[in-house]
Order: sequence, then C-alpha cells, then structure tokens
Amino acid sequence: MSQRGDLNKTLNFYTIPSNLLTGTVTFAAHIGNATRSETLPFVPGKKLRIAWVAMPYRPPQPPPPGSNPTDILPSQDIANKAIADLISLYPVAAGDVTYVFQPEFKQSIRLPFACSSNDGCPADTQYLRGLNDFWNRMSREGKWVNGVRPDRLYGWVPEAAPRNICGIADAIWSNPQKRKGRVAAGIDSCGGETLAHELGHILDDKGLRHTPNRPPEEDSRCAGVPEGPAGDYPSTRVYPWVPLENGA
Ligand SMILES: [Zn+2]
Repeated sequence: MSQRGDLNKTLNFYTIPSNLLTGTVTFAAHIGNATRSETLPFVPGKKLRIAWVAMPYRPPQPPPPGSNPTDILPSQDIANKAIADLISLYPVAAGDVTYVFQPEFKQSIRLPFACSSNDGCPADTQYLRGLNDFWNRMSREGKWVNGVRPDRLYGWVPEAAPRNICGIADAIWSNPQKRKGRVAAGIDSCGGETLAHELGHILDDKGLRHTPNRPPEEDSRCAGVPEGPAGDYPSTRVYPWVPLENGA
C-alpha cells in the first residue's frame, strides 16, 4: 500500500543544530536486505519567491438574458493556505519562501483543464501558455508585485472547470525545446499537495522527476498508467523523487 501521502511514514528533517551545518552529512537507509547511503555537502539554502494568480474560468453555457457572462474564480482561502504543504514537504525554511498574490491576470479561460490523447491538451495550450504569456507581459510592463519578478508562478484554477488532471507543470525535462520551467497550474480543490508536486517539477532547471512509471506512459501523466513505479525501480534507475497522487 502506498505511504507516499503519509508524512509520518516518510523521512522528514526539520531541525539540525547550526554547528553541524558545515562539512558533509551521510544518510543511510536499510530496508529489509536493501541498503543505500549517500554523502552530501551542506550548501547555502535558496530563497524562493512564488507568485500566484487566480485563473478565471468562464463556463460555455450562455448567460441568462440581460446578464453578463460570469467568470468563476478559484478559492482564495485554499490558495493562501496551500503554501504550508510545500514548506512541509521540501527542505526549505518557512522564512526562505515568499508566496504572494499577483493581480492583473484577467484572461478568462474557457476550455477544460484537461489533457487526453483524443482532444489534445488545453491544460497546456490554454493554461500554461496563458501563464507564460502573463509572465512575459508582467515583465515587460513592470507590473510584478513590489517590482520583484518571482522565481516561479502558479495559476490556481477553480474546481468548476471540467478537468481530468489536478495539476500540470511547464517542466523543462519534459521538453527542453518547448518548456521554460517557470509556471505551473492546479485545481483549487486538489490543494497544496498538488502545488508542491507541480512546483517540484520546476524547482530548478533540472526539476524533480517522477519515479518511473511503466512504459508506454512513463512521465506522460503524473498519475501514471498503470499507477505506481516500474517493476525495476529503483534497482536499475535512481530517481530522486517520489510523486504525490493526482498530479500531472
Ligand atoms: Zn507530476
């Protein structure tokens, strides 16, 4: 049974005395007959500035006579609280992460938050492209909050949008020619786990990867089809990342 979503059954390190934060540290894990150890140097932590936008979804049905079409916005409450999951899941200090609301995203999105082999991937062509266009516009017009360009941008999408995924990231590793590694998007009701998952894919230019799903769907969908790591994992390939559920 998967324990990936249970923080009490994963390895988490919260505090290390400051006088130990030099030199190297060796982690060793022994599970059954399998062992693995890794020695890593301490390096300065990175500051991370994340901006988020509310992506308005406009349902396709015509509005009642005399009224204007209504955009549906994501839950501001969920969006505000979701950053706590990222801070608890990643080795970042709470004070090193800045998470700010970025206004000015006004473009209504009208297509489902979805990807399928039949209908293409409006989650990519509408949502990620919309976020990348927005990134360029804010940079060009100098409209980033407090005049500071964020490291990453996350688009919250209301649950009212039809969907078949929880989130999607513009991860460079998925297509180095096309991707920029700056933006990701997710449905509000999928919450902070999806935020952490998607931003994990683009935390740096390399980005965190999934455990290898079984071919032919490897890495094409975060949930993986069939779900779960490939049978040879991790004996033949080592990936640094264990995926959360329901992301993309
Ligand atoms: Zn993923």
